[in-house]
Amino acid sequence: MRLIFIGPPGVGKGTQAKLIKQYFGIVHLSTGDILREEISQATSLGIKAKKYIDKGHLVPDDELLNIMGKRLNQDDTKKGYLLDGYPRTIPQAEGLDSFINKMNQKIDSVISIELELLQRSDDGNQVIIKRLEVYNKQTAPLLKYYQKKDLIKRIDGSGNIDSVYQQIVKVLE
Ligand code: AMP
Repeated sequence: MRLIFIGPPGVGKGTQAKLIKQYFGIVHLSTGDILREEISQATSLGIKAKKYIDKGHLVPDDELLNIMGKRLNQDDTKKGYLLDGYPRTIPQAEGLDSFINKMNQKIDSVISIELELLQRSDDGNQVIIKRLEVYNKQTAPLLKYYQKKDLIKRIDGSGNIDSVYQQIVKVLE
């Protein structure tokens, strides 16, 4: 099983990803976690990535393509994987496609966790506002991209953790 999770910031994507990876026994690859680990190790990628993350911007595509290309070549991904937070741009999706094709694999489903009205932050948190803008501009176009490939499964993200989880399991079974 190879899955992609897409959703705006704050929709509970990471929580669901952790539950679903257990259900299917596949590895959960969160690019946010991978980047935070690089930051905590103060690697050159981590130092560079922090500047973007702190502002709510995306880390440049070539860095992500590089790190995910290496990660997806590791043995623990053979049984399948759940990508949480990757791809986040069209160039990343194209890069992933060429990797997948080269490996003779396919993506089974793209889970889109959706909320009708995204609450705007009133606390003036500029980073959160920026992250939402970036999502709408750079990540939301992926929904069309994967719709054309007939891979999108839309999930109503407005319920509680368990009800969202049950919906995801249902569409994947
Ligand atoms: P997340 O934990 O998935 O919300 O990711 C935290 C931050 O890491 C994001 O706001 C981005 O700055 C960065 N990031 C995570 N995944 C990606 C990606 N696929 N492309 C670019 N930046 C990313």
